Amino acid sequence: MSPVYLDHNATAPIRPEALAAMTAALNAGGNPSSVHGMGRAARARMEHARAQVAALIGAPASTIVFTSGGTEANALAIESAVAGGARRLLVSAIEHDAVLETAKASGAEVVRLAVKPNGRLDLDTLATHLKAWDDAHGRPFVALMLANNETGVIQPVAEAAVLVREAGGWLHVDAVQAAGRIAVDSRALGADTLAISSHKIGGPPGAGALTFGPRANLVRRLHGGGQERGRRAGTENVPGLVGFGAAAEAAQRDLELAGGQAGWRNAAEAALAAAGAVPVGSDVERLPNTLCIAAPGFPAELQVMTLDLAGVQVSAGSACSSGKVKASHVLLAMGLDDLAGSAIRVSGGWSSRAEDWTYMVEAWITAYERHAARRRAPAA
Ligand code: PLP
Repeated sequence: MSPVYLDHNATAPIRPEALAAMTAALNAGGNPSSVHGMGRAARARMEHARAQVAALIGAPASTIVFTSGGTEANALAIESAVAGGARRLLVSAIEHDAVLETAKASGAEVVRLAVKPNGRLDLDTLATHLKAWDDAHGRPFVALMLANNETGVIQPVAEAAVLVREAGGWLHVDAVQAAGRIAVDSRALGADTLAISSHKIGGPPGAGALTFGPRANLVRRLHGGGQERGRRAGTENVPGLVGFGAAAEAAQRDLELAGGQAGWRNAAEAALAAAGAVPVGSDVERLPNTLCIAAPGFPAELQVMTLDLAGVQVSAGSACSSGKVKASHVLLAMGLDDLAGSAIRVSGGWSSRAEDWTYMVEAWITAYERHAARRRAPAA
């Protein structure tokens, strides 16, 4: 049997639509800045992709800046705010490292906003910080992700946007995990900037986008040519962007199917809970594809390795680039200190089937029971 891939939140398999569009773009070639026919055709393909990506997040195409991925899209927003005078950044404690580390490296003071035990931002804390705002900190900047990558928990972004707007601030939304899994409308959410990434929705890695509204002033981070309306120099990755666009269109078409996958996730969660696992983040609205489950006494990395041997690919709560696993800052922020080292993330997506989830459940229960038996056995 082929491996069961339930790690879409790490990266989704490439969608056939994206692969076909990229192959055609690679074969066609052309530099969008060239004025001849091949250049104009490349530009037309790229602008079509821009419209496809814009449609997925309810943004005008003219407000899409293509980037090398979600990390760069987040950085463009954060560094633009700091360049514009922001001296203090309010970021939710459960943001992805792309936001937390960029904020830290920006030189501004970083305040991590608490989340409630259910994994959602504590809006009272945000309101308190905004009320006590000192103009010496520059314009308020708030980063709040739309859905968390580890738990799938959906954040109260529209409510936060009202508070940020009242304070005259800038709300940045990392929608990297939400896009293509739930409907995302950047304008209705009240985001001033919103980041998404191609490889989480079935496009190629190395492509992403930031949309910006009228209250966000973006600065230029890469200097050279006038690409992306002078906002990001460098010859565009047209094949990658075209694949991103095709994936965005397919993801939008499949949103209802994506929503339906919550049924598989919920059934798996119930079966695992009955076997002794502890669900995380299940009290509030979550992405339909994500399951975070902990097993006290069964280290996350051991669960991941055992499942891998059984042909099931999932993630530990938080994986370092070295391949080592550290306790999840997301679970720690939720006050789940005793679960933080034993939580795994199972995430489906466009290529998933119901049997993937049932097989994962069987494999996990077998692994869990074996581990429990070994722990019970007296040392030789
Ligand atoms: N933001 C979130 C919430 C993510 O989950 C990720 C990737 O894991 C990123 C940002 C970074 O995106 P990229 O890999 O495209 O740089």
